[in-house]
Amino acid sequence: MLNIIGSKRLEALKDKCGIFGIYGKGEDVARISFFGLYSLQHRGQEGAGITVTDGRRLKSVKGLGLVPSVFDKAKIESLTGFAAIGHTRYSTTGGNKLCNVQPIVLDFGPDQFALAHNGNIINAMELIKTLPKTVKLESTSDTEIMGHVIKNSPGRTWEEKILNSFEKLQGAFSMVALTKNKLLVFRDTFGFRPLVLGKLNGGAYVACSETCALDTIGARYVRDVAPGEVIIVDEKGFTVAGRVKSKRKSFCLFEYVYLARPDSIINKQLVHQVRQRSGELLSYEAPVAADMVVAVPDSGTSAAIGYSKASGIPYGEVLIKNRYIGRTFIQPEHKIREMGVKIKFNPLRQIVKGKRIIIVDDSIVRGTTIKKIVKVLKSCGAKKIHVRVTSPPVTDPCYFGIDTPDKNQLIASHMKVKQIEKHIGADSLAFLSLDGLIKASRLKSGILCSACFDGRYPMPVTGGFRKDVFE
Ligand code: SF4
Repeated sequence: MLNIIGSKRLEALKDKCGIFGIYGKGEDVARISFFGLYSLQHRGQEGAGITVTDGRRLKSVKGLGLVPSVFDKAKIESLTGFAAIGHTRYSTTGGNKLCNVQPIVLDFGPDQFALAHNGNIINAMELIKTLPKTVKLESTSDTEIMGHVIKNSPGRTWEEKILNSFEKLQGAFSMVALTKNKLLVFRDTFGFRPLVLGKLNGGAYVACSETCALDTIGARYVRDVAPGEVIIVDEKGFTVAGRVKSKRKSFCLFEYVYLARPDSIINKQLVHQVRQRSGELLSYEAPVAADMVVAVPDSGTSAAIGYSKASGIPYGEVLIKNRYIGRTFIQPEHKIREMGVKIKFNPLRQIVKGKRIIIVDDSIVRGTTIKKIVKVLKSCGAKKIHVRVTSPPVTDPCYFGIDTPDKNQLIASHMKVKQIEKHIGADSLAFLSLDGLIKASRLKSGILCSACFDGRYPMPVTGGFRKDVFE
């Protein structure tokens, strides 16, 4: 058996985090948070945590690894209370430390404040300088800095402080926060990362990164948290504390390409359908004669189905993915990555032999995985390999909560499409146009961030803080 190929997750851009929050007297909030986080595992696999409140103190369980390896029955049962927040985390190089696993809990005497964050604060280094000298940071996380910035912002209540901190916090933040007696939910004014509200049958409100978590716990979707909005959930129910005006919206287009789960609905669009439409549009933009359309599993599957449907070329499978690769596989260290390279996918040699194959992938970042896939399929006797990518070339790094390599490691930042085609050994290579991707999202380009494809950042990022510099 010929085992191949690289980690798709290591090759692709990685989301920083998934977040979950619940307020529900009489509900098993820790267990519900566990299942919510389980369904947000794709947004971060290197650490997880849950913090609960019983009205007197906050209590947390946190650890490195996948959600089910961090929590067992006893740990979940130790987290008693009526409200909780949780987090799944992806770290960057050197950032895989327990002190950075969220929720981050800040002790201000009798007052405690816990935060779980999806995003990235680009001016965190400057913000540190504005904090009182007495502040001692205990992590290397921008989220801890956010907590102190909020604490030191004017306001009588936490929600007032949060609203007053918005103008200082530059970057992306979809957040859930917990005090002794309430859950707070808020989102930056650009709305980079998704954040939705739901409700359980018993009346408990939940907030989470994606609607797939609502489905998992049996909650009904209520609405998206609007950019700039601060929401309180407490014994009175759900209240909008205020909304900081959006100068410009900038939802991350890459959520549709790769980051979100296909069964999530984001901005009223089912992610699977957006990906399918991307594949359809790519088949019109870059047709080619072939015997079968296949996907790089699993993220390319929806798009490959769309390409096949629109082109009339049958869809098939030639790469079987090992679905049980655990945490060690996704550690970012080079050595582990090289080990992972050999176990992720296995090709169906008998099906590949003699075929002209269109392989559909969602993105090319460094180009390492697709190069290996092309090589292996050719070694299995494929007659032609045509690579079709359902996003434009990734030319620029992300500063808003996605782990992209530096610009010089992005293959499309220094190679033209024809050069990449040659580099990966494909018989042809084509990318979906940015217009095509935006069309597939059915959203207006003015409310989307597409900076990693066109370098047009929605805010100045020169000298900007990236999490691989700090976290
Ligand atoms: S730069 Fe790319 S990955 Fe980052 S928020 Fe913008 S679209 Fe998303």
